[in-house]
Amino acid sequence: MTTDEANRGLGRGELALLAHEVRGALTVIVGMSELLRSDLAPAERLRALDGISRAVDRIDRLVDEAVAGEVAAGHASGLVDLAELAEQVAAEQEAVTGRRVEVTVAERPQVVGSREALERALTNLIDNGLKYSLASAPVEVNISRQGARAVVQIADHGPGISPEDRERIFEPFERAGGGDAPGTGLGLTVVRSVVDAHHGRVGVDERIGGGSVFWIEIPVSRA
Ligand code: ADP
Repeated sequence: MTTDEANRGLGRGELALLAHEVRGALTVIVGMSELLRSDLAPAERLRALDGISRAVDRIDRLVDEAVAGEVAAGHASGLVDLAELAEQVAAEQEAVTGRRVEVTVAERPQVVGSREALERALTNLIDNGLKYSLASAPVEVNISRQGARAVVQIADHGPGISPEDRERIFEPFERAGGGDAPGTGLGLTVVRSVVDAHHGRVGVDERIGGGSVFWIEIPVSRA
């Protein structure tokens, strides 16, 4: 991986979209604040305050997600044991959410890359698996090797993703179902940019029995 690739965070187009989204939320805040200056019924006043609070929340998430992507993209490259990393991220997510994240390790492939960036990618995928499924359902993570490629699969028991949405959701700010769940539509964009920087591929399939299986494939280290 070259330094340029290792440093790849959100691209210029994505930053422009991010700015657009933040401005949109700021416009809501300005509009609602103006409204609050006028003589409003108590219920309308509450609605305006709710609108402001949702817009602030959205800006907070957008900035968080973008900064996390940038920080992950700026780290140095080395040998990373993907199974060990997945076990670490799963344990952290279990501790934070109180949910089950089950890891099975078929092989322990090593890849060359940024541990922090890969950690961010795995965190986003596991986090989504938990977010879009019922609290009682586990997320299952499997690490294996297929020929020269390390493969990490993250399976959930959620609603799955319809075939026509499976490409689109990796684009910035694109969201599919589960619209009530908090989010920015940036998580999978960060995942794709990390995987691209590692010369890998990412995708999603249907899980047999319901839910989705996100997968990433990264060339194993030849060292
Ligand atoms: P966010 O979760 O912040 O909306 P992402 O980029 O992580 O943004 O995901 C984009 C969209 O893809 C989500 O809004 C959701 O519609 C869909 N999605 C992602 N992961 C899952 C999943 N595990 N199950 C169902 N839908 C998902």
